[in-house]
Amino acid sequence: MTTVVVAEDEALIRLDLVETLAEEGYDVVGEAADGDSALELVRALSPDVAILDIKMPGTDGLTAARQIIGERLSAVVILTAFSQRELIEQARDAGAMAYVVKPFERNDLVPAIEMAIARFADFAFAEAAASEHAERAASAEAKLEERKLLDRAKGRLMDTHGLAEADAFRFLRSAAMNGRSSMGEVAQRVLDGELKP
Ligand SMILES: [Mg+2]
Repeated sequence: MTTVVVAEDEALIRLDLVETLAEEGYDVVGEAADGDSALELVRALSPDVAILDIKMPGTDGLTAARQIIGERLSAVVILTAFSQRELIEQARDAGAMAYVVKPFERNDLVPAIEMAIARFADFAFAEAAASEHAERAASAEAKLEERKLLDRAKGRLMDTHGLAEADAFRFLRSAAMNGRSSMGEVAQRVLDGELKP
């Protein structure tokens, strides 16, 4: 069941929202009448989606939305009055995943929630993929650097100490095993002149 936190300072609208959501099969796990409580509830309950009115006492819905999305806590649907057109623009800029104009219609609410959840999933997935890609690239680069270092150390052992390539490699490997250090570290010590056969 999709879990929802609702934040709306007008009690009647909040009640209406909660009832509508329950009738549509959503699980309303938390209700708040201001932005700070909404943020606390979302952090504590990790709902699938937070529905936030913009104009609330204390932290407003847009600020709470930025915070929630910034911390990757949940999808967000913004509620805004029809007269507040500029707030709709701001909601978009805040990275709100979807918004609903009040007075809301049941037929607007459900698609907005589903769209927000789908967009949040895409967003989180893209971010995870990007960071995994960066990690792999960094590890590939580190491996390449180590290989270059090993080649240079091997060359040094061959040129300066007259070792055959296979012996140079064996020297590096056993120095690494005995010293419990990486091949890269051992290679660096050979290049620094600290380690000799
Ligand atoms: Mg309000």
